[in-house]
Amino acid sequence: MPDLGAVGRGLGLLADHWTLLILQRAFFGVRRYAGWRDTLQISDATLSARLRSLVDAGLLRTRPYREGGRERREYVLTERGMDVWKLLIVIWDWEKTWVPRATPLPEIVHRTCGEPARVLPRCADCGEPVGPQGTEVIRLPGTPGLERLARQHPRRTRGRLPDDPLSALPGAMEIIGDRWGATVLGAALTGIRTFGEFGEALAISPEVLSDRLRRFVELGVLCRTGSGSYRLTDKGRASFPIHVALVEWSHRWLGGDGAPADLTIRHLSCGAVLRLRLDCDRCGRPIDRRSVSPGVPVQGAGGAGTMAP
Ligand SMILES: [Zn+2]
Ligand SMILES: [Zn+2]
Repeated sequence: MPDLGAVGRGLGLLADHWTLLILQRAFFGVRRYAGWRDTLQISDATLSARLRSLVDAGLLRTRPYREGGRERREYVLTERGMDVWKLLIVIWDWEKTWVPRATPLPEIVHRTCGEPARVLPRCADCGEPVGPQGTEVIRLPGTPGLERLARQHPRRTRGRLPDDPLSALPGAMEIIGDRWGATVLGAALTGIRTFGEFGEALAISPEVLSDRLRRFVELGVLCRTGSGSYRLTDKGRASFPIHVALVEWSHRWLGGDGAPADLTIRHLSCGAVLRLRLDCDRCGRPIDRRSVSPGVPVQGAGGAGTMAP
């Protein structure tokens, strides 16, 4: 994807169900092929392809180990891969809060206070709470649109979910697991309201656009207003940190490779380019990668891990 900006590249890499689930498991300590295969109900072909692209993109690296006299490879997160933790936590928090399911997701336990926590997004620079109001999205004119993003992976069919609730993020995948979906919702968060405005901003085909808008209304992240435009619901607005985390990670890790800063989110009250700080709603202290763990043991990870493998 040589012509895309940083966020386009980030979306191309991370807006994929399997990729996020593989990374999530890696945070909980899964390092070996069988660990992912046995817990995610993923085909060998898909797992091998995703591991390869995560290694190519520098999020995982391989490390040899010996088993039964044979040399094998395991996969460990690099610094670039570990920095995805913030995206995974805000996805988990949103999914837990807004997407009902038969077997609930485990709690996010903040180890600093020992309590199950909800995540409060704040501006890392000034410390104020942040949401779509109070921020501004700047698109660099002339950068290639996200329409250049070919769909690399087919969308996962909506079927039976795995037994382990952590092995599926169905709500989040509906909103970012497909690049057009992420783009349409991202545009809605910037204040775009009508079919015509979406079409103009995104260079998206009318068929794809109406499909995604209809799906978002079904999911309850957008609602239609009397005047035929679309408005974000509370559930839709609450997905804001997911988009910010994706943009922030892309700038940090993909912006230096000659990719233009295609899209920037600025916090209006302090003027800084928005970086998220996540605070615990129980104790008010910041959450970091090492201070969160799932409230249950994670399959395939040999016990309850933290987000710090
Ligand atoms: Zn700020
Ligand atoms: Zn806490």
